[in-house]
Amino acid sequence: MKASNDGLYDWDLITNEVYYSERWKSILGYTDDELPNEFATWDSLCHQGEKNKSLQKLEKAIAGNITHYNAEFRMRHKLGHWVNILSRAQIIYDEQGKAIRVVGTHSDLTEQKKAEQDLKDALAKAEESDRLKSAFLANMSHEIRTPMNGILGFSQLLKSPKLSGEQLINYVQIIEKSGHRMLNIINNLIDISKIEAGQVEINMDECDIDKQMEFIYSFFKAEANKKGIKLIMSTCQHGKNPIVKTDREKLYAILTNLVKNAIKYCHEGSIEFGYHLPPSKHNAQKKEKDGSDIQFFVKDTGIGIPTDRQEAIFDRFVQADIEDSNVYEGAGLGLAITKAYVEMLGGQIGLESEEGTGSMFYFTLPYTIPENADVGSMNETAEPKEKHEAARKIKVLIAEDEEFADLYITILLKKLNAEILHAANGKAAVETMKQNPDIDLLLMDIKMPVMNGYEATEKIREFNDEVIIIAQTAYALEGDKEKALTSGCTDYISKPIDEKELMDMIASHLS
Ligand code: ADP
Repeated sequence: MKASNDGLYDWDLITNEVYYSERWKSILGYTDDELPNEFATWDSLCHQGEKNKSLQKLEKAIAGNITHYNAEFRMRHKLGHWVNILSRAQIIYDEQGKAIRVVGTHSDLTEQKKAEQDLKDALAKAEESDRLKSAFLANMSHEIRTPMNGILGFSQLLKSPKLSGEQLINYVQIIEKSGHRMLNIINNLIDISKIEAGQVEINMDECDIDKQMEFIYSFFKAEANKKGIKLIMSTCQHGKNPIVKTDREKLYAILTNLVKNAIKYCHEGSIEFGYHLPPSKHNAQKKEKDGSDIQFFVKDTGIGIPTDRQEAIFDRFVQADIEDSNVYEGAGLGLAITKAYVEMLGGQIGLESEEGTGSMFYFTLPYTIPENADVGSMNETAEPKEKHEAARKIKVLIAEDEEFADLYITILLKKLNAEILHAANGKAAVETMKQNPDIDLLLMDIKMPVMNGYEATEKIREFNDEVIIIAQTAYALEGDKEKALTSGCTDYISKPIDEKELMDMIASHLS
């Protein structure tokens, strides 16, 4: 009996005397002398609602002259909680067939019940994520089809010969807008996949917080104004800009996501964003949790988020259950990405919101000041450059295997009055460079047949280190840029190529 870890009982039905083993009592948390050996012990500790069922089983067994039965019930533990018990009973009859004893065991089912519950929970979770995935796929299909519909539909309409100038511009704008929406979805999907695969790299660097704020402000001001919403930036006004050691690109992405959402879910009023420095600047260098965080906020007077959805909106593929949520485009990925980034940078994100009144999202970042912080020497990649001119006649080689991509760049470069040569693979690019040492600029696609862009660049650098080589790839993954630069490229641009970005880049290298 000891080896089975079960308790034993032996009940004399004639005298009503009962024997309970030590283990029978210890399952319920008692020592041997704490519980009397009498029927009333079981009777009082057994769950009142389940007791009768067990007694009825006994009666039924006796009536049918059956020797075995099992019963399950809960019994009260000494500490107050319930213990699930499996009772296995054996009835002993005398020679006349009269039941005289019930002997049996008690098994503690706690572990088994817990395992069953864990299994049920796991199943519920799997079903929930399955449901979310289906909802995600349906939503994704809608999110991708809608812009595709715009692109293909209006491209067809463009073929009509009798379009007015106004119609033409209108249709092209729709195509452009649809393309941007599509790109946004794809970028979100890539980001979330990278987060899930643990492939996001963090590049800690000096970051001028006020400059980031200004970029965000100038980027979104027009969009907010167009909707009739006031965009307010509140930065730290006293003296030197705060410099923090963090990943600038991630901070930019976090703020962009939050401000973008604020504009999307706000129809009147204002959006304010900014930050608060920790109360005591002296503590800032220490890694103390209290007072050493910088707190950012993005506050809007928009539609708000129901209280019961405020936690869920940070999960992937989840949108707040707003009645007319279908009206808003989006796949419910933005906040999941934002939260992941904030946590990667050592911060926390949260929100306060009231339906119909507005929302305030806030997040913290550790306020670690880089040693010898010097504002002037900082290299802010996100800074928009306003230069556009690259006037003198330049000679450009476009290395690109995709016909349309080549055509697009060709059209862009015509504006620069450039002489343009073409190569459809890396090997051809190397040959063309050898024959034309006066080429100023090479736009090098990376994924090309015969010889890829990295290899071609390395070969070209063996005999020409003057030419400006701008790598262009559609991967847009971190590490691509480094790979391009180590192979000898001067700079890097990701596809789809933005006209202004390319022109600025060319101008900055040629000037
Ligand atoms: P989506 O692409 O749907 O906007 P997000 O992950 O960015 O995905 O946001 C998730 C959901 O949270 C949104 O669908 C929206 O319901 C809600 N939400 C996010 N920001 C705001 C806001 N500023 N005001 C109201 N609701 C918001």
